[in-house]
Amino acid sequence: MTFRIRAISTPRSRRKRAWSISPVNPLSAILDIAAIAERAHAHGVKVAVDSTFASPALQRPIEHGADIVLHSLTKYINGHGNALGGALLGDAETLHTLHETGLRYITGATLSPHSAFLILRGLKTLSLRMERHSASALTIAHMLEAHPAVACVSYPFLDSHPDQAIARRQMTQGSGMLAFGLHAGFDGARTMLNRLQLLAVSLGDTDTLIYLPASITRARQSIRKDAHMVLGVGEDLVRLSVGLEDVSDIIADLRQALQNL
Ligand SMILES: *Cc1c(COP(=O)(O)O)cnc(C)c1O
Repeated sequence: MTFRIRAISTPRSRRKRAWSISPVNPLSAILDIAAIAERAHAHGVKVAVDSTFASPALQRPIEHGADIVLHSLTKYINGHGNALGGALLGDAETLHTLHETGLRYITGATLSPHSAFLILRGLKTLSLRMERHSASALTIAHMLEAHPAVACVSYPFLDSHPDQAIARRQMTQGSGMLAFGLHAGFDGARTMLNRLQLLAVSLGDTDTLIYLPASITRARQSIRKDAHMVLGVGEDLVRLSVGLEDVSDIIADLRQALQNL
């Protein structure tokens, strides 16, 4: 499997807005926000960045030239897997335009007061949590790189990551998200997931969470024949969202699950 995905940003000149995401789900590829903004602005195109994987504690795209930033509050900002929400940040004029041209009709219900309370409480510990998520993820990325069952690891702050230099320029730490591939393929990945003690699906939570994109795609294919995975994502790809547990517990669990694969 390869980690060759580079740009999923697709400037649509009619709308004069370029959407991009960095780090990119699920491979943790990195896009150069400053370079995208410079090229887009030269053509009068505004740049929006989905910065959910990094959170504002690690990456602030507006400081690198982006015009709009999107965050899923459901993930790191709330951080405890108990509320849904989203945030769109940018200058008042742009946000007003988005709001008046349909945003309020497609974003669902207004945030409940209780969700707002939980998200604001989560926000207080965001920078502390992101330090721990990042430190544990880097330790786990190194462990996985050295493991014989693992074919490749993608984590923005690893020396082997092709865009490490860009990641270090625009992020203060690597976040808790990493992806890895297994020599044992899809069946091996499923065996590993079944053996794990700590884990479930999603990301950006206090608990370590794991996701096998190929198993979701296979399930979708039973109702939609054309369901397929993003270019560059192999059937053996596993996405890990490293939680706040003691890193030695996470590593012990991964090691027993990877044994003899
Ligand atoms: C989950 C996620 C979203 C969507 O957020 P919800 O709060 O679940 O609707 C958007 N972007 C990224 C990168 C995500 O991980």
